Amino acid sequence: MKKQAKILIPSYAEDFTCIGGECEDSCCIGWDIDIDKITFRKYFRTKNAEMKKKFVKHIYRNEESDCYDVDYGRVAINDAKWCPFLDKDKYCEIYRNLGEDYLSNVCYSFPRVYNILNGNYELSLYMSCPEAVRKLLSSRDPITFIERQMPEVKHIIHSAVDTGEKRWNKSHIRKLPQLRSLSIETIQDRSCGINERLLNLGRKLENIAQRDPTHHDPIRIKSRYAFRIEYFRYVIESLGVFDEIDSPVFASFTSLLMEGFELSHEKSLESKADLYREVVETVVKPFTEENGYVFEHYLVNSIYQDNFPFSENQDMFDGYVMLVVRFALVQFYLAGIAARNRTLTVDDVAQMIQIHTKIINHHKTFILNLLQEIKRKQFDNMEFISLLLE
Ligand code: SF4
Repeated sequence: MKKQAKILIPSYAEDFTCIGGECEDSCCIGWDIDIDKITFRKYFRTKNAEMKKKFVKHIYRNEESDCYDVDYGRVAINDAKWCPFLDKDKYCEIYRNLGEDYLSNVCYSFPRVYNILNGNYELSLYMSCPEAVRKLLSSRDPITFIERQMPEVKHIIHSAVDTGEKRWNKSHIRKLPQLRSLSIETIQDRSCGINERLLNLGRKLENIAQRDPTHHDPIRIKSRYAFRIEYFRYVIESLGVFDEIDSPVFASFTSLLMEGFELSHEKSLESKADLYREVVETVVKPFTEENGYVFEHYLVNSIYQDNFPFSENQDMFDGYVMLVVRFALVQFYLAGIAARNRTLTVDDVAQMIQIHTKIINHHKTFILNLLQEIKRKQFDNMEFISLLLE
């Protein structure tokens, strides 16, 4: 990295610090932990005999490495899914005994995301970190973006895009900075509710992409609430929450949601939809009107971090559809929890954003499969979006 490079930072991320042992969902639990090649070698050269013994026991070479700066090696996590270098108080022994120089690129960087857009560094935070979500939601004011000098620290480049490259000449990607700014501006337009802003964004992108809004058959349904229950039930089943996803927290939220909407009961879909409608009208809408900023910040961070609208591929409408699906799924879970508790709090939203990001955004194939399924069913249109948002 060049010294004194400039970096763009969203206001919420300016003074982030990891809270270590105090963290309720440590990033050192439940995940593979990657070790870059330089750090991997340092581990086996350390003069600290005790630590060296531990490295020999717990660190292994990753034969399927995609990038030596990221995952040349791995930590073998223990049966309880904890990093073996985490002590009982959830503090890192590598950091404590050898110093931060011995943290791998991934351990040092997380939850920071470094992107390069047209040669300029950009920083944001992964919302799978609970403390990052707290920072995100700590202010009601719109997120602003501040230019700073980039410190010389270890980091991993998550994405690097040069929109001036010849290969993008005929693609909308060459307009990525403008489209992203337009999207953030639309989502931060507080003259209307957050769902309406997302709909406005879709109409604008549909227009820019010159998509034909009438090329599909209408989706025939009894009510949008019934449609959402059926659709998200299918999404939850495809995710395999109870048998494939290794997250007791996500599983317990899903059970709460199923209980709240009485999804396992013998009742008709329409009576479940009535319950859903009632909870949206009496709990979710009043909460959202009062606290729309929480969803605004979540969306703005996703748009900024994921090179929206090209978050999935070169088709800007695919990026838009998946932004809405992720957002609507979070809203669906919140409504289910509200149905059970008869109330919603900013902490509920924070927990939901964190666990959804951890499970869904970091899932290797789920979003890709879901998008393929949406396209197969010809749901990639504003009619489907309206059913999820209106
Ligand atoms: S998830 Fe965030 S706060 Fe928690 S241990 Fe990791 S970096 Fe620190």
